Amino acid sequence: MKVLGPKELIEDVVAKGLCVGCGACVNLCPYFVNYRGKTSMTFPCTRDSGRCHAHCPKTEVDWHVLSEIVFGEPYRGSPIGEYRRVTAAKAGAKMAGGSFQGGGAVSALLAAALASGAAEAALVTRSDGAFGEPAVVSDLAGIVEGAGSKYAASPVVAELNRAAGKGARRLAVVATPCQAAAIVQLRQNPLEKPDFADPVAVTIGLFCTFAVSGRELEALVREELGEEPVRRMDIPPPPAKVLVLETDTRKVEIPLDRVRPLIPKGCSICPDMTAEWADLSVGMVEGCPGWNTLVIRTQAGDDLVDWAVKEGYLEIGKVECESLDHLMEASNNKKKRALDAAEAECLLGSPGAEGRAAFRMSASVVERIRSN
Ligand SMILES: Cc1cc2nc3c(=O)[nH]c(=O)nc-3n(C[C@H](O)[C@H](O)[C@H](O)COP(=O)(O)OP(=O)(O)OC[C@H]3O[C@@H](n4cnc5c(N)ncnc54)[C@H](O)[C@@H]3O)c2cc1C
Repeated sequence: MKVLGPKELIEDVVAKGLCVGCGACVNLCPYFVNYRGKTSMTFPCTRDSGRCHAHCPKTEVDWHVLSEIVFGEPYRGSPIGEYRRVTAAKAGAKMAGGSFQGGGAVSALLAAALASGAAEAALVTRSDGAFGEPAVVSDLAGIVEGAGSKYAASPVVAELNRAAGKGARRLAVVATPCQAAAIVQLRQNPLEKPDFADPVAVTIGLFCTFAVSGRELEALVREELGEEPVRRMDIPPPPAKVLVLETDTRKVEIPLDRVRPLIPKGCSICPDMTAEWADLSVGMVEGCPGWNTLVIRTQAGDDLVDWAVKEGYLEIGKVECESLDHLMEASNNKKKRALDAAEAECLLGSPGAEGRAAFRMSASVVERIRSN
């Protein structure tokens, strides 16, 4: 992966409106900050290479390199990425009483990671109004408090950088697909820092079609509800096409047509719906409320799931073929849309080719995705 500096990061990502607010460039130096969803460089920095650029999921992400790192083989372009098995899953008896987004599989896996000793702490995203606020928590209460989807981009990787700088290690991190890509890149110690220590034990990825800016989501929510606090947000799987806001007294549905204009440009070039670089990925199941789809990708993920099931944290079931087919189709459609958008903006590159690119995939893989 080509490593350039903060100047190129600003030119290629911030100035082009591609920043997704993941925070991968924040808390590494005094220059980059994230304030209420917006990432900026406060003072000029003249370094010609930096971790800010190397970690960013919107600069020079070579999908073949990521695939070699995580799976030990070249990227093939399969719709939901590489996996060992896909199951239905939900929180088990040991998690009774939590208020989860879907089946609670993510919270259950985090709890199991702490209880088994696989991780020392968990990095979750709590609500701060319409904003997502990342936090490191070290007990079940913290995991349960962080449950539920926040549809605003959360600077998860900024919090990971901050915690790592303070000595945190062996974290179980919940990440959207862009954040999971940044995490793989940062775990490679791309600038070969002698004092580097890997802060991550396991990454639990979330399926994600988009995450909007917290500021814009806040404005939309205020338009609908005034100052009434939102208790829960949901974008149910198709055929529903709504954002559901729940307060203490009512439930309001906003058509997704009003949300779509808020989708950041950086999401429109993201070819990853299922967090392909995570150890485990979790999403909703169409027509099966109370259950999640769980994609098990790596040995670390497999071990955690086995332990969680054995100890009653997680329950697993069969994924219906039809449901898996829908997931494959939705995921490949996201790839096609991203390839079209990236090509239109000259942001798609081939591995090793000259010039700068947001991401790189070989022509044969691009062809395969397009023909699926
Ligand atoms: C922005 C966004 C878009 C999504 N889009 C889809 C989609 O298109 N299709 C689909 O099937 N599923 C999508 N999901 C995932 C889905 O909403 C559930 O998070 C997932 O199914 C896990 O359910 P659960 O019951 O296990 O979650 P829970 O056990 O309630 O845990 C949810 C976990 O997600 C973390 N989290 C919440 N918001 C964020 C955030 N913004 N960034 C990082 N971590 C966060 C929480 O801290 C918590 O640990 C999306 C989630 C988000 C946050």
